[in-house]
Amino acid sequence: MAWKTLDEMDLKDKRVLVRVDINVPLENGVVSDSTRIDRIAPTVLDILAKGGKPILIAHFGRPKGKVVLDMTLRVCLKPLEAALGRSVIFVETLEAIEHPTDELQAADVILLENIRFHQGEEKNDPEFAERLAALGDVFCNDAFSAAHRAHASTEGVARILPSCAGRLMEAELTALEAALGKPARPVVAVVGGAKVSTKLELLGNLVEKVDHLIIGGGMANTFLAAQGLNVGRSLCEHEMAETARAILVKAAAAGCAIHLPTDIVVAAEFKAGAASEICPARACPDDKMILDAGPDSVKIITQTLENAKTLIWNGPLGAFEIEPFDTATNAAARVAAQLSQDGRLISVAGGGDTVAALNKAGAAEGFTYISTAGGAFLEWMEGKLLPGVAVLERAA
Ligand code: AMP
Repeated sequence: MAWKTLDEMDLKDKRVLVRVDINVPLENGVVSDSTRIDRIAPTVLDILAKGGKPILIAHFGRPKGKVVLDMTLRVCLKPLEAALGRSVIFVETLEAIEHPTDELQAADVILLENIRFHQGEEKNDPEFAERLAALGDVFCNDAFSAAHRAHASTEGVARILPSCAGRLMEAELTALEAALGKPARPVVAVVGGAKVSTKLELLGNLVEKVDHLIIGGGMANTFLAAQGLNVGRSLCEHEMAETARAILVKAAAAGCAIHLPTDIVVAAEFKAGAASEICPARACPDDKMILDAGPDSVKIITQTLENAKTLIWNGPLGAFEIEPFDTATNAAARVAAQLSQDGRLISVAGGGDTVAALNKAGAAEGFTYISTAGGAFLEWMEGKLLPGVAVLERAA
């Protein structure tokens, strides 16, 4: 790996600026899921163990350079203290850190108010980055999920201070490198979800890197239609037919086998308990919509996974929120989880709905690595260099 980890940094008595992602969901003003907060604990505790003083920098929502009171990070203070098992001091302004009181100087851990309250953050303003950098001696980026943005606290500051990756960033990058960098072959990608249009670059990059590409969900309908099959009233981007065919041609040239559903689950309505039937992919009735892949497709997916060494997964294979259209997603996810548990498969999954779908299948635990990053994970799958990672590589 071309970036430094906390192990390579001397942190004794150093002020360590730590960029974290604790952009957690709220319900009635209270944190409803503290996963992101819990996941940064190892980094903060390791910095403390090495004698460093962590100053946590994070964003919350999109205040766009202004103070927006209901986007305060203060809501994260209690869950953060619980995750760390120690007290944390919340600081509203940069001035407060620039002119610390005795209490602040004695503090173990400092959490700074929403960094996006400052105009310079999202602009990656060099002066603002300098001001941030002056608050610390070392920079540690533990926010992989914000690494696709070149902001002052993710990119600018890393140009100035000695910089390294935190534990969560390290785990994300190691897992992604194992899946798409120099993976054990054969490599299988599962890409599902609603639309081809949102995942074009991702598909284009994957066909050149993986041996098998399993396409599911609404986007599979677009590919079926592009091959001349009737998809009835299914979600389908007919205007993307040409693009879909171009991806198939590119895949063939790159030696990537594309797997589309061979059988489908169709229904007249998209609602729980709707009467559904299974039919061959070429026989979708005019008045029905395709909402899941059928059992034969699942068999092929299972065989493909059994012969694979590496799996990278984004997007559900069907309309997984509603039963029984979660069947193919659940079955494939459970096979992947079991193969991973048996040590036969390295499996990495991430991006928006994917985590929810794998959790719903009870399969998330079995995967080798689940990324909590949304946009950054997708951009990585698209083959893009993430600015927050690139700058760590340059700093190493
Ligand atoms: P994405 O955010 O692109 O990963 O898409 C996820 C969404 O795609 C989920 O809400 C699924 O319900 C939806 N989806 C998957 N397959 C289908 C399908 N065959 N028809 C309609 N929606 C689908």
